Order: sequence, then structure tokens, then C-alpha cells
Amino acid sequence: MKTTKPTWFNNRIEKSLLAHKSSDDEQGYFVYQLDALKDHLTTLQQQDVIKLWFAVKANPLSKIIQTLDSEGFNFDVASSGELTQVLGQGISPDRVLNTGPAKSKKQLRSFVEQGVNIFVIESLNQLDWLNQVVIELENTVKPKVLLRVQLQWPEGEKNPLGGNSLTPFGLSVQEWQGLCLSDYLRLDICGLHIFQWGNMLSNEKMYSLWGQMVQPLISLAANIGMELKILDLGGGLGIDYLGHGACLSWQQIVTDLADIKALTGVDELWLELGRFAVAECGYYVVPVVDRKINYHQEQLVLAAGINHIIRPAITDQPFPVTLLRNSKAAEQYFDIHGPLCTSMDKLGHLSLPEDVKVGDKLVFGYCGAYGFTESMPFFLCHQLAAEYVFQHNELLEVRAAQPASHYLA
Ligand SMILES: *Cc1c(COP(=O)(O)O)cnc(C)c1O
Repeated sequence: MKTTKPTWFNNRIEKSLLAHKSSDDEQGYFVYQLDALKDHLTTLQQQDVIKLWFAVKANPLSKIIQTLDSEGFNFDVASSGELTQVLGQGISPDRVLNTGPAKSKKQLRSFVEQGVNIFVIESLNQLDWLNQVVIELENTVKPKVLLRVQLQWPEGEKNPLGGNSLTPFGLSVQEWQGLCLSDYLRLDICGLHIFQWGNMLSNEKMYSLWGQMVQPLISLAANIGMELKILDLGGGLGIDYLGHGACLSWQQIVTDLADIKALTGVDELWLELGRFAVAECGYYVVPVVDRKINYHQEQLVLAAGINHIIRPAITDQPFPVTLLRNSKAAEQYFDIHGPLCTSMDKLGHLSLPEDVKVGDKLVFGYCGAYGFTESMPFFLCHQLAAEYVFQHNELLEVRAAQPASHYLA
């Protein structure tokens, strides 16, 4: 028996995964361990410094949303589809905020009509449109508006973001600076939003980055004459996908953000957590269909790859893997590929017991975020992945696997 299972693998689920029999269409499946998720969320909520939102894009499955709801999280949605899914779980629209660079006037109207009252505004057009929508609908409540800021650092200055790559998220301080608040009397412009970092794994770096946002944001608020009541610092709290042992301490985050809150003088400090909330509760299980040696490199080919789980290919960061059975064999590195006819379909170069064989199942970790809905399921007409939850020591199917005939026209 392998003496150490990886830290991300929760042994309570092993028996159920071993006992699970897949249907012919099930070439790979996700499992979310809801009890473990609930415990983790409880820990995140044991503080009164940060108001927590869940970035729904990380995992929009009904059962995941319901679990976050039961732990008092609010919801950050970035599309009509995400809004429908959240409201469909019985969540009140006043616990929803809307972010995203592609809000048309039509979408803003529809969100307001459905009762959404908090908007992270990312362009001058969005601001005008929201104001017009409120006037046209004769809404009596003023939507709360957070302006999304995108910072850059002058050439030659030490850049805490590590580079000035331009994105469509928000606007520069210079653009927002021209705002005249009295043009938007139907809006309650009360906060700023900034989020332009990803998968941070060091508390020191995170704090230093947040710290450097304080001055530019306070100045912007002062210059346009807005009272800065809410500061939303987005997400980006990291997951140790590569197993380097670097882990964020939540206690330290809370302490650091209490500091940032005091420095900015805001009433409320918000985070929209994606991966930090849900990554660890999820697994992806997939069988090995072939093993071969190519130019001295051991290769495994799996029944599914980036058609079910694309993140490793687009971030160059594999999900960690383990073999779903005990093995005494020594470990060696394998190139792990999926079934698509493109060299992009690679889940990593990862260590596994050398006796891994055709028919074995692999379990990938941290797949609770950016898994099922981030994939490219249609290419080459493979099956859609199934999704299960593990609760009260049982696997419960939430979404059955589907053959290509399910979606081909
Ligand atoms: C994706 C996203 C998040 C969550 O990001 P994580 O890195 O998963 O925490 C939060 N806020 C916004 C606006 C996002 O787009």
C-alpha cells in the first residue's frame, strides 16, 4: 500500500469511488464532497471582517450553490444563465451582485427587473445604461454601484501586479476620474471593485498587493467626491495545485483584511471567492484506456481529458492526481493525455505508481472549481461528464453522463 495519500484526497470518499460502477456513457465523472465543503465554508465564515460572495463561475452546480447558501454566502453572477441558476435555488435576488464586462442595457434591465440591486460597473456605457434603466422602470430603490478599477503602474516603477497586461475588466483611474456623480442621481455609487491577480499563494504577497491598491483607490474616491463605503477585492486566493506546500492562511487573510479595511475606512470589505471556496471539495475520476512508451516517455491515455477538464491546458497548471487503488509500486512520471486529436489534450506530466495499467482509474484533485463548465465537451463528439455529490457517505448522481447524440443536431 502506498503509505501516503496526497493531502487533498479525503479518505472518507475512497470506498464509494472504488465501489462505483460507471454506465457505458460515463467516461469520466466529477464528485463533490458536500460535507467537507460545508465544514470548510463554516471556517471561512468564522470572522466578522469580510462579507463573502461566491463567484458562481467556479462551479454553478445546484447542490454547490445550495451548500454555499446554507453557509450564508452571497452570489456573484456574471451572466443571465448564472442568475437564473442562482435564483432557481431559491436565493433572494438581494443577495446577488452582477459583475462582468459584457452587460448590455437589455441585460441590465432584465437583472433590475428580477430584483438584482448590486452592480459592479465596468464601463461608462454600463453606468449610463443602468441609470437609464432605473429611470425607465421608475424604480424607487437606487441600485448600489461599485466601480471596477483597473490599475497600471508607470514604466520602470516596481509593479506589484508583475506586468501591465490590459484586460476588458473595469476602467483606468483616469477614465473614472472624469465622472460627475450628479449625472447619476438614480444610482447609489458607494464602492470600488478591484481584482487583477490570480491564484495567490503567499499571504505576504497578497497583503502587499492589497496594500498598494489602497492609495490609488482612496484618491480616486476623493477626486470624484464619492463616499467609499464598500471595497470589493474580488477573488484570486490560491490553491496549491502543484503541491509546492505553499498555502494561504485564512486567519492571516482575515487579519490582513481587517488592516486594509481600517486603512481605507470602508464600512464593508467584500471578497468573491471562487476556487478558495470550492476547489478542494471536488474530484474528477477517469479510467486509463491505454499505456505506451514513446521515445522513452511513458504515456497514459485516458477516456477523457480536456473535453471534461480543460484548465490544465489553458493555465499550464495540472490538477494533482492519484491512483484509485492501493499500490506498493514505486512512482514514476507519466505524460497523461486525453482522447482528443490535438496535442493540447494533456492533463499533465505527473507521478503515479509504475504498475498503473489499462482499466485503472485516476482521481484528480482540486476539481471542485473550474471543472465541468470550463471544459470543451463537444469536440470529437465524446460523452458529457457526469456529476455526483458525496453526502452522508453516499454518491448521489446530480447529472448523468450523456452520449454525443444528446447534443448533436
Ligand atoms: C473569477 C472571478 C472571481 C473568482 O476568482 P477565483 O480566483 O476563483 O477566486 C471573483 N471575482 C470575479 C469578478 C471573477 O471574475
